[in-house]
Amino acid sequence: MSVYYHCPNPACGMIYGTTRERRTKPQTGTFSCTVCESEVLRWSDHCDFSDWMMVTKPPTRQGTPAPVFSNAEQIPVPHG
Ligand SMILES: [Zn+2]
Repeated sequence: MSVYYHCPNPACGMIYGTTRERRTKPQTGTFSCTVCESEVLRWSDHCDFSDWMMVTKPPTRQGTPAPVFSNAEQIPVPHG
């Protein structure tokens, strides 16, 4: 099954998807963010995580620069 984990670094916020697989023996491991190297997940359980992949962040309006409107349009003035 695919599960998703967020990078704990709020300034990074990267999302990773991984495949969780059941194992007969306890597994231990860690996964660190490839961007900021924060520890995203540490596990020690009868499961293993493989196929880590970076998931593109969903587009959010927050943080995007405001659109720039051009004022170059000239309005004809009737008098003159
Ligand atoms: Zn990160």
